[in-house]
Amino acid sequence: MPLTRRDFFKVSGMVAGGMLAGSGSDRVLEAEEYESLRIEYAEESTSICPFCSVGCGVICHSQDGDLVNIEGDPDHPISEGTLCSKGSSLINMGKVYDEEGKGRKNPGRVTRVYYREPHGEKWQVKDWDWALEKIAERIKNTRDETFEEVDEEGVTVNRTTSIAHLGSAMVNNEENYIFHKLTRALGLVNIDHCARL
Ligand code: SF4
Repeated sequence: MPLTRRDFFKVSGMVAGGMLAGSGSDRVLEAEEYESLRIEYAEESTSICPFCSVGCGVICHSQDGDLVNIEGDPDHPISEGTLCSKGSSLINMGKVYDEEGKGRKNPGRVTRVYYREPHGEKWQVKDWDWALEKIAERIKNTRDETFEEVDEEGVTVNRTTSIAHLGSAMVNNEENYIFHKLTRALGLVNIDHCARL
């Protein structure tokens, strides 16, 4: 069975850990060894760095619902485990720091659906089922009301210019391809993406 880069790092870590345990040493752990202990019981999932169009792969470690570490994914075909300085500091997106530099989970992070009706002044908390129904209903109604089969010169256009779609850099290439197919099928022409994917 071929050994991936990630397998290699895991095996290397286990061998190094065994040597340390077998030695009976009471020396202070090095920084890299501390990192490996910090994620020992964490759940691992993969994602994409949201900052730019390179789309580097990251491994996210979480414990009890909290992110404890983010690092480059060595199995990712684009970045092969590397991250630039922005990607390397990705974990800080979900944290706030006090004056002593101690970080904690950002209490202002939005984790629920907030809705403010047209001309409304207050935000209402909604669930995702409600929000998705509402989005689908508005897309359907707007498309039905504004769809043009031909333009004023009689050229077939099959489009609506009343709906726009803005993608997310958290979405990978394949997901972007599906979104693009959907929006084109609806007749959208105003399609963009923060990372221009
Ligand atoms: S790690 Fe850097 S280069 Fe890679 S996607 Fe993030 S910002 Fe772009």
